[in-house]
Amino acid sequence: MKFPIFKTKIEDPNQKSFNLALPQERQKYFELKAGPEIEKLKEYLKDNTFIAYLLGKKNSGKGTYSKMLAEAVGKEKIDHFSIGDMIRGIDEEIKDEKKRKELLSFLEKNYRGWLSVKEIEKALEQRSTKTLLPTDLILALVKREIARRQRKAIFIDGFPRDLGQVSYSLFFRDLIGYRDDPDIFVLIDVPRTVIDERIKWRRICPVCKTSRNLKLLPTSRIEYDKVKEEFYLICDNPECQGAKMVSKEGDELGIEPIRERLKTDEELIQRTASLYGIPKIFLRNSIPVVKFKEYVDEYEITPEYHYQWLDKENKVKIIEKPWIIKDDEGIESYSLLAPPVVVSLISQMVEVLNL
Ligand SMILES: [Zn+2]
Repeated sequence: MKFPIFKTKIEDPNQKSFNLALPQERQKYFELKAGPEIEKLKEYLKDNTFIAYLLGKKNSGKGTYSKMLAEAVGKEKIDHFSIGDMIRGIDEEIKDEKKRKELLSFLEKNYRGWLSVKEIEKALEQRSTKTLLPTDLILALVKREIARRQRKAIFIDGFPRDLGQVSYSLFFRDLIGYRDDPDIFVLIDVPRTVIDERIKWRRICPVCKTSRNLKLLPTSRIEYDKVKEEFYLICDNPECQGAKMVSKEGDELGIEPIRERLKTDEELIQRTASLYGIPKIFLRNSIPVVKFKEYVDEYEITPEYHYQWLDKENKVKIIEKPWIIKDDEGIESYSLLAPPVVVSLISQMVEVLNL
């Protein structure tokens, strides 16, 4: 895939750099790089909304971009929901007598398809997490999620999930008659190698479930296990009282188990990119090393972290350096941090909404 490179660089030798991991600095960064566009979006969102379909490979961090956009233009005006979370929510509802009744009565009124509501109920009860729910059921459930979020712009993550569902999403607005809002496809291109490393080095707090990355996104405390000779992260959340973050079984395999799924996702993005008639936004996570100086500022690039145990001083030394990866075409590239990608999202959003 060849998405255009978006320029976020500002030609100002006196520009200070930002620590984009900190919310307050991010706010200032967004103001500097997209201030007028953010104002336009805020103004628009006072009386209007939109529906945006996020299309990216599995584990490409789709949620991060929309959540960060909400952070920049106002959390009360923008919402995000993922089909995965939605379905996990259904599994909970089915177990609760009152919620189950509400769900089934909603489906009585809103579901159109080949299954009776009785059959759906049974299917949901016996569903293993591996089986996919039929598209007609997903449509009814997405409709419910949208109805729950009146007066908010919505990012949908995980629908459409295949080419069949793309046709539905194109006419979804007409089908369910939601508010005449503009609808937009947001296509996200993240190289496979980036996803691979994100999974391999992922660490999760057993208490609050926060996810970080030993190599790419450490916490503020890194410790060393002398017996196992390995470095580990301590959760930053004060409520977790110094919990040691752990890796999930299977994560060490990286993208290996999801290789087929990534291929389908890539095909879906490629086909969607050539659709006519619906506005599209292209988000690109990587930038060729040879081009980066022209397009982005240094602090907008994802660094990698290495660690060294200093025995005498009894502490961990942190070494930060630029992280170079091969993109899907084999070109040496840097991976952008989320904020510059969100700047390009904001700018393109203003354009497709004609603001
Ligand atoms: Zn925690």
